Amino acid sequence: MDPLKVYQYSNPGRLIFGPGALAELKKEFNVKDKPLIITDEGVARAGILKKVTDLLIEAGIRYELFDRVAADPSIEVFEEAAACYRQRGCTSLIALGGGSSIDVAKGVAIRATHEGTIKEYASGKPVEGVLPWICAIPTTAGTGSEATAVAVVFDPETKVKMVLKNSAVVPRVALLDPLLLASVPPKVAADTGADALAHAIESYLSLAGHMITDAIALSAIKMIMGNLPKFVANPQDVAAAGQMHLASCMAGLCFANVGLGLAHALAHPAGVYFHASHGLSCALYLPGVMEFNAPACPEKFVAIAEAAGRDVRGLSAEKAATEAIDAVRDLFAKVGLPRTLSEMGVEFRLEPKMVDDAFTSPPAKSNPRKAEPEQIAALFASVK
Ligand code: NAD
Repeated sequence: MDPLKVYQYSNPGRLIFGPGALAELKKEFNVKDKPLIITDEGVARAGILKKVTDLLIEAGIRYELFDRVAADPSIEVFEEAAACYRQRGCTSLIALGGGSSIDVAKGVAIRATHEGTIKEYASGKPVEGVLPWICAIPTTAGTGSEATAVAVVFDPETKVKMVLKNSAVVPRVALLDPLLLASVPPKVAADTGADALAHAIESYLSLAGHMITDAIALSAIKMIMGNLPKFVANPQDVAAAGQMHLASCMAGLCFANVGLGLAHALAHPAGVYFHASHGLSCALYLPGVMEFNAPACPEKFVAIAEAAGRDVRGLSAEKAATEAIDAVRDLFAKVGLPRTLSEMGVEFRLEPKMVDDAFTSPPAKSNPRKAEPEQIAALFASVK
């Protein structure tokens, strides 16, 4: 951290966490409200939607439902959900699900009250006035979207995952209930856990990082390293699920403030072109990007190795950095994440646009070491 530079930190909305936190939902709404629940079919099938609607019915709160969110939601899904909000006269939003559902709710908050298109807002069109408020109920431990001012919007026409950023969309309250993670399939648990770890590590290494985010990010790294294998093996382990839920949220509030790095810059186009989930795309690139970044800030890698539980006493910073990267690779192997595209049965093909998109993306700007386009191309190819 540069003592002569100006930094900033914003807090997210209210965070309520712990087993049974979902019950607080009844206190957040009153009978005059009519929230639109935004969710997806998987969350409904897991019985989580019913838990939410039962609580609303008990409290006499009317609600409407949009349950057609798809993973990596496209512009069309955002607009469809916003039309549903307007047509049914809703007053607020319940974002129930993983990052995909929470992101759609954020876009709906804007489009429900603002003319134009979601694409225009994702391109920076300003938002004026008050938006409908959002209660976020995350059901994956990964994106941290409940604590961020960001929504990822996929534009199928340009094949770009656009990042809508606006402080007005930060959920007013988030209910982080580890009991809702009990049904997360192992693959989703591993992928989303890798996303959370990438957020924690990349925000810790970010050029905009400072004492507040560093402290939170290192704690999140420690919590994820210690709990992800237990959580993937048994999502009903309430203690491990609770630690993962909280760590993912903590990592979210770090990157919401100080940005990310190259692993995310590569993960967005990789997700689009290789059809990998966002978390898995992050897992593919995080270790190689750490190797690329280590020479730029070796002392930070010592702290990552320590947070990962490695004994680095007496080691040079370079050797400690290798320990940190090994710890990440070992963790990913333990939870069954593939190391290469060929392990996933995906053929590697590098489109020039992938390099352009990664090179010009905001996460590349906060990465601790500048990467030229040919270095980005080499990183893409490193996981063939
Ligand atoms: P997701 O929301 O797409 O959900 C993945 C799958 O898991 C879905 O099929 C869903 O039905 C299922 N699922 C979710 N919770 C479950 C549960 N408790 N039990 C059973 N099944 C469950 O996955 P995600 O990784 O949470 O979100 C990915 C999206 O979030 C991507 O679009 C990514 O770009 C975006 N993202 C946003 C931010 C942000 O700050 N806004 C940050 C990172 C990623």
